[in-house]
Amino acid sequence: MQNHDELIAKLPKTELHLHIEGTLEPEMMFDKARKHGIKLNHGTVESLRAAYDFANLQAFLDLYYAGADVLRDEADFYDLTWAYLLRAKADNVVHAEIFFDPQTHSARGIALSDVVNGIVGALTDGEQHLGITWRLIPNFLRHLSEADAMATLTELQQFMQHFHGFGLDSSEVGHPPSKFSRVFAKVRALGLPVVAHAGEEGPPSYIIEALDDLKVTRIDHGIRAIEDAGLTARLAREQIPLTVCPLSNVRLRAVTSLEAHPLKRLLTAGCSVSINSDDPAYFGGYVGENYRQTAKALQLTPEELKTLAAMSIRGSWLSDAAKAKHLADIAAA
Ligand SMILES: [Zn+2]
Repeated sequence: MQNHDELIAKLPKTELHLHIEGTLEPEMMFDKARKHGIKLNHGTVESLRAAYDFANLQAFLDLYYAGADVLRDEADFYDLTWAYLLRAKADNVVHAEIFFDPQTHSARGIALSDVVNGIVGALTDGEQHLGITWRLIPNFLRHLSEADAMATLTELQQFMQHFHGFGLDSSEVGHPPSKFSRVFAKVRALGLPVVAHAGEEGPPSYIIEALDDLKVTRIDHGIRAIEDAGLTARLAREQIPLTVCPLSNVRLRAVTSLEAHPLKRLLTAGCSVSINSDDPAYFGGYVGENYRQTAKALQLTPEELKTLAAMSIRGSWLSDAAKAKHLADIAAA
């Protein structure tokens, strides 16, 4: 496996599925809690980390939203994003398309200007000093109402110059994509592309809804497409990028084990698949670790690893010229 690890280290990587709030490491959580005088439910970093043994998506989300409460001002969002960028750099990430959840913060009375300015400030510095290009994608929380999403979109209009698209995340089952058809139509009317989490815990029909009702250009997760041969064939035919997060899927029990993960089957079926880290502070590894563990568990070949990295570049919102440069680097790796 050593050769694979070397190749993985060399591959220029893109992250297309990364929630910045999900990069909040316990150490920083304690740091920020101290700064703001917040008492956490866990006494130590170790006991907090031990709680990251999730029964399902909801169990994770409960802890995730509680953790995000320590993020209160612009400096917190800057620090959070900068810490992620340093880890991304170590994994040879050359481009990151980052999600954040405006409603998680506005619901706590945090000014969205602090959230956006903190994240964008770090991303801008990261591009300058670390060479990591970026896109920023606010996500609507699907467990909240359509009206709440609409109000959030209105509130975000003043920052629109920083956003490159919109997405949909949070508790999937019972909150189908069609709940947000009108919100997404409005985003598209603004000229921005849309993406959505679908087919993580939810059924393949949610993926079809995301494509047909929301008109997404990418599906986040999408792994349950493997249960529907017709849908898998469509995804392959239309080359809809699936931003897959293997360690997340294991940790949230969307799959029974990494060995049972459908990533290789989707790849073999001709789907456009990429490897991403989702909420790496909670799921046991950043993008490099996702590559390494997946390569080992699914016995991926060097060619397959290069294909995955290339699909990630092609599925990004980079310019054609930037894509061509990274694709040449992957071919040479
Ligand atoms: Zn996600």
